[in-house]
Amino acid sequence: MGKTTGFMEYPRTENRFRDALERLRDFDNLHTPQPIDVRRCQAGRCMDCGVPFCQSDFGCPLHNLIPEWNDLLYQGQEREALSRLLMTAPFPEFTGRVCPALCEKACNLADDGVTNRDNELYLIETGFEKGWIRPRRPLARTGKRVAVVGSGPSGLAAADLLNQAGNFVTVIERADRPGGLLMYGIPNMKLPKEVIARRIRLMEEEGVSFLLNTSAAPDLLSAYDAVLLCCGSRKPRSLHVEHMDAAGVHFAVDYLTAATRGILSKAGPEITARGKHVVVVGGGDTGNDCVGTALRQGCQSVTQLEMMPKAPEKRAAGNPWPEWPRVLRTDYGQVEAAALQGVDPRVYETTVQSIQTDAENRITALKTVRLKKQADGKLLPVPGSEKTMPCGLLLIAAGFIGCENETLDGFSLSADSRGRLLPPDGSHHLGGNLFSAGDMRNGQSLVVKALADGRAAAREILAFLR
Ligand SMILES: Cc1cc2nc3c(=O)[nH]c(=O)nc-3n(C[C@H](O)[C@H](O)[C@H](O)COP(=O)(O)OP(=O)(O)OC[C@H]3O[C@@H](n4cnc5c(N)ncnc54)[C@H](O)[C@@H]3O)c2cc1C
Ligand code: SF4
Repeated sequence: MGKTTGFMEYPRTENRFRDALERLRDFDNLHTPQPIDVRRCQAGRCMDCGVPFCQSDFGCPLHNLIPEWNDLLYQGQEREALSRLLMTAPFPEFTGRVCPALCEKACNLADDGVTNRDNELYLIETGFEKGWIRPRRPLARTGKRVAVVGSGPSGLAAADLLNQAGNFVTVIERADRPGGLLMYGIPNMKLPKEVIARRIRLMEEEGVSFLLNTSAAPDLLSAYDAVLLCCGSRKPRSLHVEHMDAAGVHFAVDYLTAATRGILSKAGPEITARGKHVVVVGGGDTGNDCVGTALRQGCQSVTQLEMMPKAPEKRAAGNPWPEWPRVLRTDYGQVEAAALQGVDPRVYETTVQSIQTDAENRITALKTVRLKKQADGKLLPVPGSEKTMPCGLLLIAAGFIGCENETLDGFSLSADSRGRLLPPDGSHHLGGNLFSAGDMRNGQSLVVKALADGRAAAREILAFLR
């Protein structure tokens, strides 16, 4: 255990956000790291509880050995702490930046949980800086060939484990850069893209091959000993209103992809919020990323519509610790919008009733309507509550309804009623030499869950190959 009285002596201290108005001027990191002495004190707050809920099913899906590496970090044994972290965590540089830190909410210190995510990020970045992270090439090869289709976190985690076990692994990705939603989804300020490129270079040095700009086809099945589909849950939920084809109406991931491409190519985005009144439909994390991106692009205003009522400030009685708290969260984009516009951009219990366009079919305005939850849980429009608001860019961040039809049809597969490729026996094996993992198997989720599922699928494939 770190420091016996650490949790009483040191208050929880997270990596600091840069000032909201200052960080709106760029797409750089949201946070500034804390110095080593702060990190060590923070690790010293870990109590090494008899039952560490942070590692349980309520906490980290990777079951990271959190109390062990916190203790080593507190003792100043950073390299040993890192190697303990890497036993279960394939890419802490991703989770240390984007994980919602389920472990911290399950911590016995409850709302004051240990800053595991920041500690994890400190360890891996120190490892890269000090040259401790070196390519790990397998000592022997099995001669087996595995194709991993999709290079999001689930595909990368599976490829890593399969390669380390000595198999020849090829990751097939239809996009021009690997990373899935890590690359084209999560914005640069949350996850700088050079962090992904650094990991891909390392994996290549370790022997993983990446085939980009390539859509997977069923002829793969015969060319490889096993094929793992990690194609994500990327079919977006749409709005059932007219003029969805109007210029200026986009799904969130298309908009965020264009924003990242524009940054990486330095040519500017193909879709821009500059000078426009932006409305984001969906009050979740994806919607928040759209808000933060639109503000950085210089939008005239941004509003976020959410169908559901505002969440409570504190846990409800039916949502006790160590469950994930279903409470109001104000994310970086909403903080930035409030700092710039003077108000939180979120409007609750409201949706789009219609889209108005000009003669060239460009969006000009929206009619919104308030919703009221009925006793049976249905949300119905409140008559007379309609409002018109100007809108030059409408971004739909209303969630995802499953894997895309082209991939399913290509492999002659059918999804379940929730759009997932989840085998009925709960395994990852779809039949023959075909497997599935990540959001494609479980529905849209989290990076850390995709990593854990990719590793679970890889273990099944290893057993299958044996
Ligand atoms: C905007 C946004 C922000 C998010 N932010 C966070 C966050 O901050 N923290 C968090 O934990 N989670 C976040 N998530 C969720 C998280 O990104 C996903 O749960 C995770 O990326 C799923 O990983 P995956 O590998 O299953 O699929 P994906 O990341 O979706 O990757 C699938 C890959 O498969 C490729 N592909 C698909 N079909 C084919 C084909 N036929 N041939 C070849 N390649 C194919 C795609 O191009 C893609 O690269 C966010 C999601 C979105 C949309
Ligand atoms: S991956 Fe997420 S849940 Fe697991 S230890 Fe890191 S921050 Fe916590």
